[in-house]
Amino acid sequence: MKRRALLGLFLALPLARGQACTPTPALTQGPYYLRDVPEREDLREGLPGVPLRLRLRVQDRACRPLVGVRVDLWHTDALGRYSGINAPGTFCRGFRRTDAEGQAAFLTLFPGWYPSRTPHLHLRVEAGAQVFATQLFFPEEVQRQVYALPPYRERGMPRVGNRQDGLFRADLLRPGPWWRPTPSRPGKPWARCPGGFPRGF
Ligand code: FE
Repeated sequence: MKRRALLGLFLALPLARGQACTPTPALTQGPYYLRDVPEREDLREGLPGVPLRLRLRVQDRACRPLVGVRVDLWHTDALGRYSGINAPGTFCRGFRRTDAEGQAAFLTLFPGWYPSRTPHLHLRVEAGAQVFATQLFFPEEVQRQVYALPPYRERGMPRVGNRQDGLFRADLLRPGPWWRPTPSRPGKPWARCPGGFPRGF
């Protein structure tokens, strides 16, 4: 069956498989994508920060899972540094291949911020010659909660808020309970994203 590119990701909650899916908008890949990164689930490399779990689902335009598709995630560490750009190493970078359900899970850190941008994650999905990129954003209330914690708190809140960021899109904001840092135990909060950011082809 021929699968054609559709300019959008699909958002589907894992529990809603088989139901209608909603396209997720594309956004520029930006200048800091690096291809030569480890294939792995855990991107943290022992760095401090609030753990963040993401589970992504990649689907075609009929919401069927796409298997074996490369999904890259990259972002800054808690101090706003990109590995391979302004710090050595490969921290907070990695890729996975989607499983038989079209899913890819990551364990990483809630990102810090750098001066020109509001906090964000970068995602890139590649299936053959087709590439889709987007960015994900966080409610400022969630930023306030996370950035009050070490090691983020010495840098305070971002200079650029969501509404001041030229790339920000409210429909790439992930509202809802999965972005709420939920303490698993004191000093060990978690932010979760059980929803997906799947690619439509
Ligand atoms: Fe960035």
